[in-house]
Amino acid sequence: MTQLLYLEDSYIFSGAGTVTETGEDERGTYVTLDQTVLYPQGGGQPADQGELIWDGNIAAVKFVGFVDGHVRHYFDRNQLPPTGTKVEIRVNELLRRRNCRGHTAGHLVAHVAESLFPRIIATKGYHFADDPHVECANVEPPSDENAIARINEQLAKCINDNMPVTSMILSFDELRQMCPHVPANLPKDKPLRAVQIGDFPPVPCGGTHVKSLSELGPVTVAKIKGKKGNTKISYSFE
Ligand SMILES: [Zn+2]
Repeated sequence: MTQLLYLEDSYIFSGAGTVTETGEDERGTYVTLDQTVLYPQGGGQPADQGELIWDGNIAAVKFVGFVDGHVRHYFDRNQLPPTGTKVEIRVNELLRRRNCRGHTAGHLVAHVAESLFPRIIATKGYHFADDPHVECANVEPPSDENAIARINEQLAKCINDNMPVTSMILSFDELRQMCPHVPANLPKDKPLRAVQIGDFPPVPCGGTHVKSLSELGPVTVAKIKGKKGNTKISYSFE
């Protein structure tokens, strides 16, 4: 398994690793490393971009994926570093920080909506730039016509209060004790982790986040829509 260094700190922007395998799949040529600071796409969060550097070579990592416990770093190159090569890893910091903000904003939107409207339970997040939103399965949107205004007022308050964002690596039993909602499809090939914003309940999450809410610009809900018995809450962030 690849050791996921970003789980311990979202703001490590460089590191080192050793090539454990090279290969090719439908996405292209890739190397796996014994450890990595690059985030593989998943959990509603886009993949990091970055660079691998070894023996005078620099290769731009165009995608990072997670397959069977291993992180695959994809790049366009005929010559792959052979197994055993030590590589330097660099993260595209601007993109990572943006993904941290978008992902944390998604958690915050979910917490605020759940606290104001108890029937709402967020079941999925999508933190890509094109359509960031939180999905709540099997529930209609709140009937309160002021729902969006009330959510936005609380979002601004939480950010103004600069709530801390913390995380803990946990066993499955600990996770179940701490988190009110634990999805059935937790990954079996990754460490489990809970993320907590302020006094909101911890949630299972393996993504990257800001360290406190003052790092976020305004987070605003623009639309709450019902779709096939589910609720979609769309938000914007900077
Ligand atoms: Zn998260």
